[in-house]
Amino acid sequence: MSNLTDISYVKNILSKHGFTFSKALGQNFLINPSVCPKMAQMCGAGQNVGVIEIGPGAGVLTNELAEVSYKVVAIELDKRLLPVLDETLSHHDNIKIINGDAMKLDLKALIKEEFGEGHVVICANLPYYITSPVIMRILEEKLPIDSLTVMVQKEAAERICAAPGTRQSGAVSAAVRYYSEPEMLFKVSAGSFLPAPKVDSEVIKLRILDKPPVEAADEKLFFKVVKAAFLQRRKTLANSLSAGLSMPKAQINSLLESAGIKSNARAEEMTMQNFADISNALSRL
Ligand code: SAM
Repeated sequence: MSNLTDISYVKNILSKHGFTFSKALGQNFLINPSVCPKMAQMCGAGQNVGVIEIGPGAGVLTNELAEVSYKVVAIELDKRLLPVLDETLSHHDNIKIINGDAMKLDLKALIKEEFGEGHVVICANLPYYITSPVIMRILEEKLPIDSLTVMVQKEAAERICAAPGTRQSGAVSAAVRYYSEPEMLFKVSAGSFLPAPKVDSEVIKLRILDKPPVEAADEKLFFKVVKAAFLQRRKTLANSLSAGLSMPKAQINSLLESAGIKSNARAEEMTMQNFADISNALSRL
């Protein structure tokens, strides 16, 4: 059986297929043997739970996922990796590789086609250049998945999982908490990858909620408010909202007052309920 955490084996097989790493595609492959089995165990995959992986690379995580799940569908953008994956994953018959862009494929249709109504989780070591867009796409499309377990750069993990009311919180963390319950699972050092990136990574798990934690009468407006609130972080919430929503400051001030929020408050002090109260007051105007 192939050992995809053995550096010389990986280097050999990649060079045999003429593969060279692309920085633009965020290609840093895992070579730390303890990481992928842990991710596969913690992501919720199982004999009744299928998995979608984004960016299998040389197949190191795919291999572990196929050990625990009945079926793995892996989406890889880089065509050059297809013959590599053919070779490294040949001993499994429960893996399907799809050559495509995870940002463009119709993931809802893909899940229905590959897994029907069955339980599905997403598990991936994400290319860093699409971390937030791909997570937001998966959440906003309300894909029928149980959870999303992804490795991302440490700073991104802190931003994505930040609790409301903390300095790190922002539009992404608020959106993440609208759809899911985030958890930091474990840290992965930069030396665990080939080639080694400059920064450490973190594995995070987002458990999809059955319903949002707050009631927003108009979901679109809720996200518009959240985005506007964090647009100018150094300004007060009232100033950011006035600029971001193109509304007079006086009107914003009375809106905040009706939602029980001080006019000199800052966006990072807001709870999810505060954002819902502001957007609900706005939708009543
Ligand atoms: N899973 C492998 C591992 O852990 O060693 C590789 C992870 S590497 C960080 C990211 C992978 O995502 C690369 O194989 C890269 O080619 C692929 N990728 C980059 N952009 C992608 C996209 N838009 N859709 C699907 N795969 C993509």
